[in-house]
Amino acid sequence: MESANLGDELLALVDELEPRLVEWRRDFHAHPELAYQEYRTGAAVTAVLRDLGLEVRGAAGTGVIGVLRGGRPGPTIALRADMDALPVQEEGDKPVLSRVPGVAHTCGHDAHLAIALGAASLLARLREALAGTVLFIFEPGEESLDSGLEPGAERLLAEGVLADPRPDAVLGLHVYPEYPAGQVALRPGVMMTGFDLFQLTVLGATAHTATAQKGADAIVATAHVITALQTLASREVDPLEAVIVHVGTIQGGQRANILADRVELSGSVRVSDQALRPSLPERLERLVGGVAAALRCRHDLRYQPYLPPVVNDPTLTQLVAEVARDLLGPEQVVILPLPRLTGESFHAYSRVAPAVFWFLGVGNAEQGLTWASHHPRFDLDERALRAGLTVMAGSVLRLLGALPPGRPPARPRPQAIVEEPAQPLLEAEADEVTFESAQSFPASDPPSWTGVEI
Ligand SMILES: [Zn+2]
Ligand SMILES: [Zn+2]
Repeated sequence: MESANLGDELLALVDELEPRLVEWRRDFHAHPELAYQEYRTGAAVTAVLRDLGLEVRGAAGTGVIGVLRGGRPGPTIALRADMDALPVQEEGDKPVLSRVPGVAHTCGHDAHLAIALGAASLLARLREALAGTVLFIFEPGEESLDSGLEPGAERLLAEGVLADPRPDAVLGLHVYPEYPAGQVALRPGVMMTGFDLFQLTVLGATAHTATAQKGADAIVATAHVITALQTLASREVDPLEAVIVHVGTIQGGQRANILADRVELSGSVRVSDQALRPSLPERLERLVGGVAAALRCRHDLRYQPYLPPVVNDPTLTQLVAEVARDLLGPEQVVILPLPRLTGESFHAYSRVAPAVFWFLGVGNAEQGLTWASHHPRFDLDERALRAGLTVMAGSVLRLLGALPPGRPPARPRPQAIVEEPAQPLLEAEADEVTFESAQSFPASDPPSWTGVEI
């Protein structure tokens, strides 16, 4: 096959495979399975990969590994797709709804599965043009990060999935409703910050309200502590960096007419500048300890470094952005100025191999598809699936030397889903999503911990 026209060949295969991707995605959507219960999902993935002639094996309980060997030797490129759904009761008017009460693919892993199976199908067809190996990692238990179960990515690494064959690059994507369907958003370096957790107890001494001078009010001290914590963002860090100090729970006090002697809080800290991260426990300790002591209270702060960042290899990031510009059009690529202040188990791969993770826009404001990930109404514009497949498969082809850069396909690109050019920071859209998400969670019915993107 002439490499000069492989871009056209790729887009023709995407056209051919698109209906299968939609079918697969809808099938996974109708049959969601929770972390480490992805039995049907794993069986479906295994069947497709075996049909394509890949070497297939199980891993990490319900995970699946597929190996596609190209026509000639060369590097190994790994593609990762996560498999699990969430304990969420799905809502809304969608083409396909979950058939499992209380379980739904509201993080879009059904789309990740479909795109990865599409990439396996496409690359298997071009097997002879590939100088290298493609490793397909279907990761179970991605949503287990806050459940106490061992994350699937860590189990896969412990089982040596990245040891044999050892990948020279790991590629992954996540659907992203805050960007229009078909756009690709990424950045070199820290892509997602991860975060740390803390638990704080403020200890005072009780007394009757009428003789408050005899006690030490843990609630008043806590109020000052919470306010002081915000100075971490406003007065301790470069204002061009993003910082969130979040208190998520607070409990304290016994009665309306006595001073509280104990208040317990928990929260999280997220920073865009990872160089700051080691200093965070000391900074919190100083702020909390100083304010509590000034108000005659004691404190106990437990700080837990929790989720490491997802770090994008700069060379791979540039390659994926170039492939997306070549195959989708330059207007479909957004380079993010700041990392996303969330976390993902993909950090495990970026810790041990050059890796790149990008967001695939799946939003469609006109159709009301702007609900945040994990929300019961989360849904995606399925036209984004072809863009996901195009960039995923195109990046592998380029890494394996089968798709030279700077040669856009001869045929016209499919009509851009988004007419207007991408903006560097879609602030208006981000606000809109936040507003809609906030509206959908009435104050009397707050979302559970699993009801929000972590
Ligand atoms: Zn999720
Ligand atoms: Zn997810």
